[in-house]
Amino acid sequence: MYRTHTCGELRIENKGQQVTLAGWVQKARKLGGMTFIDLRDRYGITQLVVEADAPAALVETATSLGREFVIQAKGEVVERQAKNAKMPTGDIEIRLSEIHILNRSTVPPFTIEEESDGGEDLRAKYRYLDLRRPPLQRALALRHKVAHEVRNFLDAKGFMEIETPYLIKSTPEGARDFVVPSRMNPGQFYALPQSPQTFKQLLMVGGYDRYFQIVRCFRDEDLRADRQPEFTQIDCEMSFVEQEDVLGTFEEMMRSLFKNVLDVEIPRPLPRMSWYEAMDRYGSDKPDVRFGMTIHEITPLVKGKGFSVLEEADYVGAISVPGAAEYTRKQVDELTEWVKRPQVGAKGLIYIRVNADGSFKSSIDKFYGADDLRAIAAAAQAGPGDLVLVLCGARRKTQNMLGVLRLEMGGRLGLRNPKEFAPLWIVDFPLLEWDDETGRFYAMHHPFTAPKPEHEKWFYSDKKEDLERVCANAYDFVLNGSELGGGSIRIHNADMQKRMFEVLGIGPEEAEYKFGFIINAFQFGAPPHGGLAFGFDRICALMGGQDSIRDYIAFPKNNQGRDVMIDSPSEIDAAQLEELQIKLDVKPD
Ligand code: ASP
Repeated sequence: MYRTHTCGELRIENKGQQVTLAGWVQKARKLGGMTFIDLRDRYGITQLVVEADAPAALVETATSLGREFVIQAKGEVVERQAKNAKMPTGDIEIRLSEIHILNRSTVPPFTIEEESDGGEDLRAKYRYLDLRRPPLQRALALRHKVAHEVRNFLDAKGFMEIETPYLIKSTPEGARDFVVPSRMNPGQFYALPQSPQTFKQLLMVGGYDRYFQIVRCFRDEDLRADRQPEFTQIDCEMSFVEQEDVLGTFEEMMRSLFKNVLDVEIPRPLPRMSWYEAMDRYGSDKPDVRFGMTIHEITPLVKGKGFSVLEEADYVGAISVPGAAEYTRKQVDELTEWVKRPQVGAKGLIYIRVNADGSFKSSIDKFYGADDLRAIAAAAQAGPGDLVLVLCGARRKTQNMLGVLRLEMGGRLGLRNPKEFAPLWIVDFPLLEWDDETGRFYAMHHPFTAPKPEHEKWFYSDKKEDLERVCANAYDFVLNGSELGGGSIRIHNADMQKRMFEVLGIGPEEAEYKFGFIINAFQFGAPPHGGLAFGFDRICALMGGQDSIRDYIAFPKNNQGRDVMIDSPSEIDAAQLEELQIKLDVKPD
């Protein structure tokens, strides 16, 4: 037997027992004649001690131990002289009678402790060493727990976990596909699924009315902290349901997750907000509702005063930053530069300071008198001590910028506490989104999303304004400014699906080529159905109070989509290319 206990297990109650532990040497140090060893495994750390008067061979082995050596150690559990209240095993230590070195280790390139001295790149290269650190172990343990809870919950509700293939044909989630060449079909390629969307719908046609899968999805997108080229979804679909059924089921799933994993109660029922309200008041379809500071339209209040910038603007909006009237000129200038950065994209920033005595100071004093400013401040719900910030331009774009500014100010004021959870559903999304550049509609969610039945009349109209009015029974689960999941009630009728492709400018041939299989399937009694998918990595990161999903994935990729540990992607040899009948035409950088 390699071990009788783990390194996180022994307590004062075990005093006097003979035990055997196995693990990694985090640290070995000599103190007086004694040698102390911190032995670590994923359960914790236990202190081992070799007394000064121990047999010489034992003292010698103990002294020879290096960091990350793997050892087996036998001895007696004794009470520690100097207890360590910070360690669960801190009341005891093991007085050793034997040490067996199971494996030696090269000196690791960084410290493997709660806090490491290794930079991100170095730790990525030696990810297996980083994985020995407690923060990563906690992250992966949380991930396991979340997956386990999801499976328990959905199983109890009659859902079946069914796997769908990875080597498929393009799925329309709006990102770029990763493709895989087919040796047996030269010149042809599989696409890796951006999601199992079409397959889960086909499972509904197949009669599996409650499906789920914790599944890997692949999207070739530019990466950010919360994105990975391969990520995991909790993918779900149900038949014979309406929006209410889907929302009810998954609200309960999230409630039970938060309760069982974090012991956090989330509101019942969950608040809901229409997409339109989210855009108007928060400038985002994933509003962070942990704090107010909402956006107020002040367009009618600023007209007719001769200030051309606002006069000409399609939309003028404001937020009121509580207590920020104290901002100095320098701070306001800095903020103005901040909103002008390309990431925000504003042309400038107007401010109105509401002084403690109720008087005003603004950057537009020349055009607006105290009464005008008072009216604007009132519309923005600003009181004495607050700072009103105003942006103008095209409606949605400006709301979006105000939304970004709102988040920034919320962050600066410490209003975005990661320990506070404010989930809600965003509902009533527009079905379609017009793109000026390409001059065509795109599906806001994806092309399988059904229009609301009461909006079908507009869906069959040829007028752009009509099509823009069509809403979908689509919904997103939003938490603290992050979209954690989303889905919709689907089209289950072949003709409506064909109409959808037509609206999206996908001709009948292209539709047949790309999605013929699903249109076909809809001719064989497709049941009404709908579902959603949650971003599993993101749920884990948020529950763990982190912004980045990277630590919640055992082997993530870096910002360039590389796995620097295994050095991938990499070139393949000429014979492989030949087999695939592929010739490269790679331009040098
Ligand atoms: N397949 C969708 C997605 O990945 C989710 C859904 O509609 O169920 O976003």
